[in-house]
Amino acid sequence: MIRKMATIRRIDEIRPIEGADQIEAAVVGGWVVVIKKGEFAVGDLAVYCEIDSWIPTEMAPFLSKGKEPREFNGVKGERLRTAKLRGQLSQGLLLPLNVLSIKTDSGEYLGDWEQFEGYDVSERLGVQKWEAPIPAQLAGDVEGPFPTVIPRTDQERIQNLTEQLKEWQGNTDFTWEITEKCDGSSMTVFVNGDSEGVCSRNWNLKETEGNTLWRVARRNDLLTKIRNTNRNIALQGELIGEGIQGNAYKVTGQEFYVFDIYDIDRGDYMTPFERRVFCDTHGIKHVPVLAKEMVIQECVTGLLTMADGQSVLNPKTGREGLVFKCNTFGGPSWKAISNRWLIKNDG
Ligand code: AMP
Ligand code: MN
Repeated sequence: MIRKMATIRRIDEIRPIEGADQIEAAVVGGWVVVIKKGEFAVGDLAVYCEIDSWIPTEMAPFLSKGKEPREFNGVKGERLRTAKLRGQLSQGLLLPLNVLSIKTDSGEYLGDWEQFEGYDVSERLGVQKWEAPIPAQLAGDVEGPFPTVIPRTDQERIQNLTEQLKEWQGNTDFTWEITEKCDGSSMTVFVNGDSEGVCSRNWNLKETEGNTLWRVARRNDLLTKIRNTNRNIALQGELIGEGIQGNAYKVTGQEFYVFDIYDIDRGDYMTPFERRVFCDTHGIKHVPVLAKEMVIQECVTGLLTMADGQSVLNPKTGREGLVFKCNTFGGPSWKAISNRWLIKNDG
């Protein structure tokens, strides 16, 4: 799924912040953003950029706070992080529509804003999704692009799914598996006919001596285990441990935890049940499973509160969050990132 980082959104609600007279909190879908008082009114359309957006300097120079802007993918700008202002969590950036004073594909000015609610304006504004730099021993030498027959791993945030959530709440047609979201680096191991490989989030990697992903794949016999099933399959999981994202789990070396299995022949993911059975049968580590058949009752705030908690991998550290996967074949999945974790790790 391509994530929309900057979209035209309507302001659902504006709340005062206790003890603050210059700022207030605007609600957009499941997000809360601190704004200058009076900057926007309920019902206004605005450009909303979610956390982890890379914002080009020209769009919002104030983000650099007078310092030299940083650089990502050759673009000068800043990354949007989670912040707390006067005790109020603030996630993302709201900008007036005039940042879009640009033409549509057909050459007209975007004048009639109403028809553009929900419109993805990331590309127009040059907003990219910021990604943590991958250390050299993980990045490795590239064999080729990520295989087109396998989807890349990504999860939408629950804050962007408020409409869908209404349909899921209390609905027994949708039951959910909940797994711990592990903070490492995405890794895919696949066999497809004569071809096989090990990939990072975006690249198919060459097997070189120093490459950690390949080393772990070989050590755990992952390619052999897939070959033995005579199926075309991609194991997708998180590589955690030393040298990766600060190793909050304090793992010695590195370990690979499967969170998805893609059946290349069928052209879809295994259901959570099939995946767990597959991992059990073949002795492959699986991300911690916290629930198998949950029916959602919670609203976005409730789900975010659920996301706060200790990691099963290391109970001494707070977990990054939860990933919810629908048990229905081909069903949706999404993440609830712990705000407690974001404040600690992302601020
Ligand atoms: P993010 O790390 O915010 O980009 O969220 C998406 C990524 O979470 C995926 O690409 C996976 O690499 C990673 N991830 C970690 N744990 C899980 C899990 N339990 N289920 C699905 N994805 C996970
Ligand atoms: Mn991650």
